Amino acid sequence: MADTRVIIIGAGPAGLAAAAELARAGQDCVLIDQRATPGGAIHRQPAHPSRTIPMSRVARLRFESLMKGIATPRVQFRGLSHFLGVDGDGFALIEDRTNGRVEKLAAKAIILATGAVEKIRPVQGWELPGVSTAGGMQVMLKETGIAPQGRILLAGNGPLLVALAAQLIRAGNPPLALVEAANPMTKPLTALGLLRHPALLGEAAGFTFDVLRSGLPWMRGASLVRIEQAGSALAAVIRQADGQETRIEVDRIALHDGIRENRIGLPQTNLQDAPIIVHAGDCRQTLGAPAAVCDGARAGRQVAALLGAKACDVAKLERQLARQVAAQKRLARIFSPVAALPALKDLPDETVICRCEGSTVGSLKALLSVKDGLSGREVKHNGRFAMGNCQGRFCAANTAALMAQLRPDMPEASEADLTGRRWPIRPVSIAALLSAAPAEQTNDHEVRL
Ligand SMILES: Cc1cc2nc3c(=O)[nH]c(=O)nc-3n(C[C@H](O)[C@H](O)[C@H](O)COP(=O)(O)OP(=O)(O)OC[C@H]3O[C@@H](n4cnc5c(N)ncnc54)[C@H](O)[C@@H]3O)c2cc1C
Repeated sequence: MADTRVIIIGAGPAGLAAAAELARAGQDCVLIDQRATPGGAIHRQPAHPSRTIPMSRVARLRFESLMKGIATPRVQFRGLSHFLGVDGDGFALIEDRTNGRVEKLAAKAIILATGAVEKIRPVQGWELPGVSTAGGMQVMLKETGIAPQGRILLAGNGPLLVALAAQLIRAGNPPLALVEAANPMTKPLTALGLLRHPALLGEAAGFTFDVLRSGLPWMRGASLVRIEQAGSALAAVIRQADGQETRIEVDRIALHDGIRENRIGLPQTNLQDAPIIVHAGDCRQTLGAPAAVCDGARAGRQVAALLGAKACDVAKLERQLARQVAAQKRLARIFSPVAALPALKDLPDETVICRCEGSTVGSLKALLSVKDGLSGREVKHNGRFAMGNCQGRFCAANTAALMAQLRPDMPEASEADLTGRRWPIRPVSIAALLSAAPAEQTNDHEVRL
């Protein structure tokens, strides 16, 4: 294998910062992303050049500086390319979805900066058409520059819901209501601590101001109980802070309960053998965009040093990361739910856990009713949990948690027991895999920046 370069998976803030550091240290790198353009979850912009999603000044300056960092012949950006994993011979498998081919790329090191995925708490009816994740709805908005149409309800927990509500308001289709399990307005003292993080506070205050000014019902301390089909619309049954239930009819519902590392199936960090593997950004720890930039830069410097470049100081980056950890902990306290939500095992049996395969709470109960129970792997193979298109990204953690609640007498299953740590991490056709051969040439989407 000709180990000629560093491969970075993910062109979000972490991957972009890592590429810039490597280029500065004299290393060539290939920056790969499934999307056509760099930016990641936060700096995503519509494909149509005449439409833009407004960014805060801080976000715009950050993105401009990141793009400047990769504007060097040492960095090649390859868009519309899916990373499938690292094969047994150490090749990175990259699928070009436009021509259905998989390439095997040799690398001295691979930096995995694949970002975060959303946490979703299942409720009855969340599998109905019209229900998506808040991140999914944000992607629709950011990719097209047009607000999703119809009456929208946002429900769950966490700051992304407030951000999405504000973005929908600015795009001209305010949500009908925002259902939030926490009550951030009762934590002014905790919020004051964010004064030490002016960029974060500025962005949060901007979103909150827009939501309050719009007058949309922000139901704090409330939770979504279930979703029902109501003709061609959806009916959301909501438990309000005072315990009363209310019903709201909408066309779309976006769910969200926080974010977590997108590491499913990925190889673990390995600093000794070739290829060296390092995780960076939200994929290593979900700390937000400013931290992802620091962490990406840190990973870039770490890899450059391992490959023989003069070691650069990482102490300043470590201090910045520690500050971001403190800020995220504070944000988590501000958004801690007012009341404990019902345990997964108390959801009605027909509640779907795995949306891809339609596997339910009841089917898991039935599987686990055998005397000795089942392991995570057996639950996957017998019940098709974590078997679908998303490969367990949304359901594996919930399935493992539900298994622990249903059979506390059994050894605890982990999310990784259900997903495994193997390639391909995304579904891929056998024909595409058969086309895999070591390739050094560029594809149509490779751009020298
Ligand atoms: C759905 C969602 C929405 C968010 N919205 C906001 C927001 O509005 N404001 C905010 O402050 N923070 C937001 N965040 C958090 C924010 O994205 C992060 O804190 C920050 O962008 C992390 O940067 P990153 O580089 O680590 O990851 P990301 O910015 O997520 O970048 C990861 C990149 O990896 C690519 N990728 C992933 N898997 C593969 C693969 N197998 N092959 C090829 N490419 C791959 C993705 O396309 C993406 O471009 C959001 C997070 C999520 C999950």
